[in-house]
Amino acid sequence: MNPGRMTKQVLSSFFKKPATNLYPHEKLDMAKNLRGKLKFYPEKCIGCKLCMRDCPSGAITINKIGEKQFEAVIDLGRCLYCGQCVETCPKKALEMTDNIELAQLDKEKLKVTFRAV
Ligand code: SF4
Ligand code: SF4
Repeated sequence: MNPGRMTKQVLSSFFKKPATNLYPHEKLDMAKNLRGKLKFYPEKCIGCKLCMRDCPSGAITINKIGEKQFEAVIDLGRCLYCGQCVETCPKKALEMTDNIELAQLDKEKLKVTFRAV
């Protein structure tokens, strides 16, 4: 390799915008309709469990916790982020968010319980 040519390339790279992002200090603009962490709206849920029936990985469990009150236990470690439960839910009680920062060392922490507060 010609050292003169290499020096020119190195110097020019100082003035170019980097091709990479300084994640996590710089956040990316997420794509529209990105399928990230699920969100559950307990006030809309009617406990039909159609989401459980259609989930291909058994990642979602709906429990009755009171009169017309339900909680969702979602194992984010098992979830495939396919969105089938969101499609299936007749009450729009499930939604996919753009939260993709779900890394965990403890698998148990990926089991999230959503219930009305
Ligand atoms: S499909 Fe929707 S309404 Fe039915 S149990 Fe699941 S979250 Fe609740
Ligand atoms: S997104 Fe797919 S895998 Fe995850 S809970 Fe819903 S149906 Fe199951």
